[in-house]
Amino acid sequence: MLSGKRAFIVGVATDRSIAWGIAQAMHAQGAELAFSYAGEKFKERVEPLAASIGSKIVMPLDVTDDAQIDAAFAQLKRDWGQLDILVHAVAFAPREAIEGSFAANTTREAFLIAHDVSSYSLTALSRAALPLMAGRQGAILTLSYLGAVRSIPSYNVMGLAKASLEANVRFLAADLGPQNIRVNAISAGPIKTLAAAGVSGFRKMLAEVARIAPLRRNVSTEDVGNAAAFLCSDLARGVTGEVLYVDNGFSTVGMAFPESTPD
Ligand code: NAD
Repeated sequence: MLSGKRAFIVGVATDRSIAWGIAQAMHAQGAELAFSYAGEKFKERVEPLAASIGSKIVMPLDVTDDAQIDAAFAQLKRDWGQLDILVHAVAFAPREAIEGSFAANTTREAFLIAHDVSSYSLTALSRAALPLMAGRQGAILTLSYLGAVRSIPSYNVMGLAKASLEANVRFLAADLGPQNIRVNAISAGPIKTLAAAGVSGFRKMLAEVARIAPLRRNVSTEDVGNAAAFLCSDLARGVTGEVLYVDNGFSTVGMAFPESTPD
């Protein structure tokens, strides 16, 4: 599905990262991959993962730093000259803002950080990718969560940032569509990753999904990766501005009684 395509994957931290699931699926479909890491701490984790699938390009990229964004895309230009796919799997909010009371814990600072790292960065990376996608069938993909459109315990300010991210997808799709660049999001069900561990009560979310979702289980990074490979392939050439739910159907359910509830 992706042979001959070059993809830049932003957001691998560990082998449990959703971005790593996406990278593996894209690699299996024939794409050539480049990776970034956020801070030296993650360099030694990301480099061996990249090497394990034959990727030679691994570079630092903190999305809050414009100079690092410029440097990363300059390196891609030097090494590849062009780019077909950009995967944005990045989010962050201060820990104290993703627990307890939304009203009490959402400070101005936490609001700004969450929106900067988790939403604005998509705009910034897309702008930087544009020149490299000229003349290609470009595809940009980001990762969202149900908290963008529903209140979810503890998700708090991150839900606002995801709502902004999903609007970002629609505005970018409209803006970049005439240049043959598609922009989509996958809204993934909860998966135990480093970022997810920061959300208070995360294990309860996993249990609720397994109880309520039509498929009665949680999604894996492989499930998300396969959907991502499709969305970024030419098979999805008519799809843009979309948020695709990969959540075992959880978001489609209006009500579900515990098995023990009497009729
Ligand atoms: P993860 O911790 O593996 O990945 C998060 C990534 O964000 C890390 O690679 C981290 O380095 C990166 N990041 C944070 N701040 C950054 C910065 N300033 N510059 C560059 N990178 C930065 O966790 P994940 O769950 O794989 O998260 C990937 C994406 O998937 C996020 O957008 C997350 O919100 C989204 N998502 C996760 C779930 C879930 O349950 N895990 C569900 C839906 C959506």
